Amino acid sequence: MIITEFGDLIAERMRAEHRTLAARWFERLLDLLPVEARAVFPTDTLLDHVPALILEISGYLRQPEEDAIAANTAILEKARELGALRHSQRASLHQVLREYQVLGGVLVTFVLEELERLNAAPPAADCVALVARLNEAVHVLSQSTVEAFVTLYTETIAEQKQRLEEFTRMAAHEWRQPLGALQFGIGLLRRPDMDQERLSRTLATVDRNVRHLVELTHKLEAVARVQGPSDSALLQEVSAASVAQEAARQLREMAEARGVDIRISDALPTLIVDVGRLELVLVNLLSNAIKYSDSAKSERYVAVAGGREGNSLCRIDVSDNGIGIPQHALATIFQRFTRAHTDREDLVHVGGVGLGLSIAEDCARAIGGRIDVRSVEGEGTVFTLSLPVVPAWS
Ligand code: ADP
Repeated sequence: MIITEFGDLIAERMRAEHRTLAARWFERLLDLLPVEARAVFPTDTLLDHVPALILEISGYLRQPEEDAIAANTAILEKARELGALRHSQRASLHQVLREYQVLGGVLVTFVLEELERLNAAPPAADCVALVARLNEAVHVLSQSTVEAFVTLYTETIAEQKQRLEEFTRMAAHEWRQPLGALQFGIGLLRRPDMDQERLSRTLATVDRNVRHLVELTHKLEAVARVQGPSDSALLQEVSAASVAQEAARQLREMAEARGVDIRISDALPTLIVDVGRLELVLVNLLSNAIKYSDSAKSERYVAVAGGREGNSLCRIDVSDNGIGIPQHALATIFQRFTRAHTDREDLVHVGGVGLGLSIAEDCARAIGGRIDVRSVEGEGTVFTLSLPVVPAWS
């Protein structure tokens, strides 16, 4: 194919206007997005990549060799990076394809505008050849982006499958112990020679194990729920203080029964977040702070405080003056079915199945954040939730 002077001219104009064209592409995409998703559309990072791609496409328009773009490893790498980026931003494959379709549309419109502006009348065959080359460039780049996107997507699904299998194994294991105790208790209750004292002891054991199974079932349901995708439809702008107050409301009875004061700071940040998941994090952290409060202390509290951390992050601290966590256990408490105080006789009445923190951590991860913990035995514990003010995905 011979690229004409006209082709060179358009390529040069596209090169000069590559940033404007990227901005136009972006505006077109925003027009297509639902209003509530616009605030969270990942602008900066995309606007880093797309101008580079347009620049490369403009270069390809004037390259004599037809397969130049497919052989340009640097630009294919850039397109693959875009695929990885959109995957990390939780875009769907449909969205990624749509973005390239819009890019193609913006570039073809630009060629038509330039034709008109330059008042040029190149041969029709040259025009067709130029547009074909443009489409080919967009196609090659979109293929690389989609390839990277699909590879990562497939890996994520394989990982999720493995985690699910492991989880099912562990959940079955956790069910077995209380079920065994129940079977044994029912066997005892059938015996004709039970005296009153043994009867009430056995009933208490049965009761404890049934409660344990009920709690285990609730928590397993929560695990299943939070492992589902966090989609942009669930995002809302909220003040963390109102979410913390709602969590505290749900736990008020428990806190009163244990004499724990829940203190929520007014200075908590406002953020765009999946409110259900944030609430679940706070409910789990607050209920732990109440459960593991220190009965030896006359004043017991859990405090929720925090604020902005730079431009894009915020922090929510849940601190208590409870019994604390032994240093050696800090590394494992987020693992499923792990409990740190099983050796403490005085805590046998504290119900728990070792899933609360793993649920909190899964939720924190799903909303783009993380949880860190500091604790001093006998003094208290601080869980710090760090998360973006606006999530990176839409
Ligand atoms: P559980 O159902 O046992 O409470 P979690 O996963 O919520 O399970 O917590 C794991 C363990 O971490 C608990 O069993 C407890 O030993 C410890 N832990 C969690 N939060 C606190 C806290 N605020 N103070 C002291 N220990 C805690």
